[in-house]
Amino acid sequence: MGLDFLQLAYMYEVLAYAAGAAALFGVAAPNSGNARILVKYGTDEQKRTWLLPLIDGQLESGFSMTEPDAAGSDPRSLTTEAVREGDDWVINGHKWFTSNGFAAEFFIVMCRANDPTGELGKPGQMTQIIVPSKTPGVNIIRGIGIFGHSTSDHCEIVYDNVRVPMENTLAGP
Ligand SMILES: Cc1cc2nc3c(=O)[nH]c(=O)nc-3n(C[C@H](O)[C@H](O)[C@H](O)COP(=O)(O)OP(=O)(O)OC[C@H]3O[C@@H](n4cnc5c(N)ncnc54)[C@H](O)[C@@H]3O)c2cc1C
Repeated sequence: MGLDFLQLAYMYEVLAYAAGAAALFGVAAPNSGNARILVKYGTDEQKRTWLLPLIDGQLESGFSMTEPDAAGSDPRSLTTEAVREGDDWVINGHKWFTSNGFAAEFFIVMCRANDPTGELGKPGQMTQIIVPSKTPGVNIIRGIGIFGHSTSDHCEIVYDNVRVPMENTLAGP
């Protein structure tokens, strides 16, 4: 719709008044935020594979940023690393509170990029990478208990040598 951030915030507020409305209108986190990232930074191929089914309601997604050993208030403290090996990224890290963790077909994972060739800029720059949830090494440990419930779909996830192709990078470091 071409709305800016503030216009979108007001629209989300109105659309979310009724129970279930946020999901019905497709404005529920984390899908809505991920859709916006893909609209703005996705390649045509990424949009075809992930964005269109996401906004059609055919699949779910998650955004994997916060880490148990780092203050979420300060993204500079994130340690999850993506090391470039040839045409792949190999991701290692520990995340938690990844909402939609059990249902998501893919995660957008916030990592530090380490490209030994130097082609992609300085080591340690942040990058976001699309990781299909069925990729070997994506280990969903548990749904974290919140608001008095013993579990939830806000998941703790260990990314253990998760290998995805470079074309899964969003924009660049
Ligand atoms: C229900 C739920 C869903 C979530 N979903 C997601 C998700 O889908 N993906 C994801 O990546 N994350 C998710 N999160 C995590 C959320 O983004 C973090 O909890 C948030 O960023 C805060 O980080 P933290 O928990 O590490 O707290 P901290 O950053 O450790 O903060 C703890 C306390 O310390 C205070 N504090 C921190 N730094 C300072 C400072 N420098 N000076 C003074 N006070 C400070 C904070 O205000 C806060 O009160 C979710 C969290 C919840 C509860």
